[in-house]
Amino acid sequence: MELTSKGYTLGGLDLLGVAKEFGSPLYVYDANQIVANYHQLKNAFSGVDVHLKYACKALTNISILKLLKKEGAGLDTVSLEEARTGIKAGYEPSEILFTPNCICFDEIRQAVELGLIINIDELSTLERFGSEYGGKVPCCIRLNPHIMAGGNSHISVGHIDSKFGISIYQVPHIKRIVENYGIKVNGLHMHTGSDILDADVFLRGAKLLYEAANSFPELEFMDFGSGFKVKYREGDVTADVEKIGAEIVASFKEFCKSYGRDLQLWFEPGKFLVSNAGFLLVDVNVVKQTTSTVFAGVNSGQNHLLRPMMYGAYHHIDNLSNPTGTDRIYSIVGYICESDTFGFDRRLNEVRVGDILAIHNAGAYGFSMSSNYNSRPRPAEVMIYKKKAHLIRKREDLDYILQNQLELDM
Ligand SMILES: *Cc1c(COP(=O)(O)O)cnc(C)c1O
Repeated sequence: MELTSKGYTLGGLDLLGVAKEFGSPLYVYDANQIVANYHQLKNAFSGVDVHLKYACKALTNISILKLLKKEGAGLDTVSLEEARTGIKAGYEPSEILFTPNCICFDEIRQAVELGLIINIDELSTLERFGSEYGGKVPCCIRLNPHIMAGGNSHISVGHIDSKFGISIYQVPHIKRIVENYGIKVNGLHMHTGSDILDADVFLRGAKLLYEAANSFPELEFMDFGSGFKVKYREGDVTADVEKIGAEIVASFKEFCKSYGRDLQLWFEPGKFLVSNAGFLLVDVNVVKQTTSTVFAGVNSGQNHLLRPMMYGAYHHIDNLSNPTGTDRIYSIVGYICESDTFGFDRRLNEVRVGDILAIHNAGAYGFSMSSNYNSRPRPAEVMIYKKKAHLIRKREDLDYILQNQLELDM
């Protein structure tokens, strides 16, 4: 998003004009930014055969999936529904990694039938997989290297008590199952969580995976997951992906040499690809002065963007309608009957009823975590692609909310 003499623009388009055309609340994504993010990350790992599997739970709109497919991405999916959306968007099943957790085995069967790459993260599931598919269908194994990423237990999924992955200490057990059933293990996987700043977390995990690789002679790829920290506010320290890339590439090359074969290196970025490309545009309904605070109440809430309330995440907010107005302090809150605060004590250009605010970093885990709480419809989604604003999801309405509800005769 850029501030020009004519106001705020995104992808070269006037954002207020976009809000006027499609209404608010509105999710707006800049395709150019997503494409740039993809190539920045891919280029950071040049020197090895790197593949990016977009973790599409971050933003699952089929048009976003198509956009990344065009750039050469694969997909990381956590449900059959995500995988099927990916296939519909044009991905080959063989480009789609299926990394579920605690699902019923029948879904793994369906994933095998679809031809997805299966990632197994639990021992009894591996045994069952072996007894049905051993010698026939390969699988990847999700290991838990027990590394704390990001320092926040909500977003760290590789620590000792995490429900994800098979402990790195259980590799001998994995090996026994694999040998017994003749399972071909084609990949090793780890994903330690979000907000990783430096190469150290990846390298510590990588080292453990390299060691484990000695037990699996048929590997084709290593998947180091994701968690690249992105910028949420001015002054935020962010992942230096070029530096991380150079260090990991060097260590991976060395590993391949000792393994005896060049493997593919995979990552599964979600946030890094889409977070800064998305904005949630909202309308100011009320400016309410209380004894201590000035609230700006908007036509959205935790039903549309949950991260500030769920993770205490900071999302920068700008007033698009009054870019030169005098700064005042506001708490920006939603219209849901909960304390759904988007931002405390923010300095914004003076906010008036009817102004449009833009909430930043709404590309990742924004729409995809939204709900119909308070029976509110979810926003429309628009993608700015080739200098035009395209509607990529219609706004919901009451009919949508009622469509699966059945009225009992009483
Ligand atoms: C959520 C998730 C990702 C993406 O994480 P980001 O922090 O959005 O990059 C990657 N891999 C797996 C297995 C995930 O669950």
